[in-house]
Amino acid sequence: MTPTPTPKQVLREVFGYDAFRGPQAAIVEHVCAGGSALVLMPTGGGKSLCYQIPALCRPGTAVVVSPLIALMQDQVGALRQAGVRAAALHSAESGASAAATWRELQAGGLDLLYVSPERLLNGDLIERLADLPLALFAIDEAHCVSQWGHDFRPEYLQLAVLAERFGTVPRIALTATADPRTRTEIVARLGLEQAAVFLASFDRPNIRYLLRDKSEPKRQLLEFLASQRGHAGIVYARSRKRVEEFAALIKAEGHDALPYHAGLAAETRSAALERFRHGSGVIVVATIAFGMGIDKPDVRFVAHVDLPKSLEAYYQETGRAGRDGLPAIAWMVHGAADVPPLRRFIEESDADPAQKRIEHGRLDALIGFAETSSCRRRILLDYLGETGSGDCGNCDVCLEPSQAVDVTEPARKALSTVYRTGGRFGAAHLVDVLLGGDTTRIRSLGHDRLGVYGIGRELDRLQWRSLFRQLTARGYLVAAADGHGGLQFGPDALVRPLLRGESRLEVRLPPPARERRGGRSPLGSATPSAIPESVDPELLAALKAWRLEQARQQR
Ligand code: ADP
Ligand code: MG
Repeated sequence: MTPTPTPKQVLREVFGYDAFRGPQAAIVEHVCAGGSALVLMPTGGGKSLCYQIPALCRPGTAVVVSPLIALMQDQVGALRQAGVRAAALHSAESGASAAATWRELQAGGLDLLYVSPERLLNGDLIERLADLPLALFAIDEAHCVSQWGHDFRPEYLQLAVLAERFGTVPRIALTATADPRTRTEIVARLGLEQAAVFLASFDRPNIRYLLRDKSEPKRQLLEFLASQRGHAGIVYARSRKRVEEFAALIKAEGHDALPYHAGLAAETRSAALERFRHGSGVIVVATIAFGMGIDKPDVRFVAHVDLPKSLEAYYQETGRAGRDGLPAIAWMVHGAADVPPLRRFIEESDADPAQKRIEHGRLDALIGFAETSSCRRRILLDYLGETGSGDCGNCDVCLEPSQAVDVTEPARKALSTVYRTGGRFGAAHLVDVLLGGDTTRIRSLGHDRLGVYGIGRELDRLQWRSLFRQLTARGYLVAAADGHGGLQFGPDALVRPLLRGESRLEVRLPPPARERRGGRSPLGSATPSAIPESVDPELLAALKAWRLEQARQQR
């Protein structure tokens, strides 16, 4: 009998690496000793070795469940090159090659067998495996078990059977999805209550987070791309139509760009993926259909021209940049108009009300992240449960500090305008009113006769829009329940003190248009305020009645 190699020897001799990374050593040791594990590690963190090394150190075959054929093929190819006996069983494998794999497996000739969940669960594979010595089960991309993530795979739910049928075989579930809810779901659905949990840091220090207020997304994107010439990257957009539009725009600008979405033929998509992976400087413009399985190490940027649907999604999508550890950029333009369609999407899904609330909460977290005036990375890591980090020095907030300004007065004007117009309008119209605009809508509604008409000239349009977003992000304003983008007051406990001047508000605003052209900011200058310092007593009195009315309507 050949002596079993140690994990360290396997790491060096088979994979050619000098040292384990982060928690790899502890995970490998635990699984080699027969323990089950839940491994949470960011994309590119090195999850594969966590089961590949125990597969080689333990007797028997390791069965690896993987959701994508492309992922399986990549891994099997790389393992074989390293001299490891690995094979895959999935729908793209011919009958003859499946039969050959099966013979190898029975003869004890395989260290690792990759299978799709369908292949493992349908037919008699499970029965057949029960008679063979097994080193472990690895369940890669384990978040596919979560019904609420966009990678949900129903077959993953049936993997619970592994705990029941193979009680003595260690199981290791791996994912880059960090949020506690998904984690709990994985543990419950895969029967991992007794498993050790290994949580690596989810920080991706080489990714620079750059967020911009969306004003002219096309021009803004082209400007950004001009700084990225020759680099491979991904541009995410909300819909197939937007993907096609942006892809054409980028191509016209002389970049090597390809569209990618679920509406394209399978061959077109795989050709695009192939070009992206092996070409240099290819930009893929995609919907979220372009996701798992993109393990190109040198993606230099991920750009979002539309808001993703949650902070988790944002983290996953931006995580595809810089897997090689070299500097990379996560760039995004965002604006208040992105939010209503996402709210409607949640409302129109067939999730139950409790789940919808969770989804709205995940979207709120993203809006908060986009509107924050503190370090982006800190917000992101806090959300992923890693508290206590300092400012990162590698996001727009840290790199481009702009002074927080006291916006108490403008905020009161904004709230008054919401109130005076009946809580039915979105920020665009409210800003028009504040700036004294001359639109058909204003005239037909008679909003030019309101006391708040034209009282907000100390800020320009971009600044007002930003203020409205931040008032929403902070809960002073909420989107009306009908999902049409109308803004209403948030909780009294928040709104009242601000209206009364008992609390103050400081936020970061984009520089004023005049300053952008070289002038100076009128904010804080001696511009007399058209609204009296003491707020509208009528408004305060009416506030209570209005809240009661709103509460009644929501019932
Ligand atoms: P994940 O599945 O967590 O996204 P992978 O397992 O695909 O990550 O690994 C990402 C990259 O890191 C791969 O190129 C892999 O070879 C490399 N890698 C993993 N562990 C180590 C290590 N200990 N030393 C050096 N490189 C490593
Ligand atoms: Mg992986």
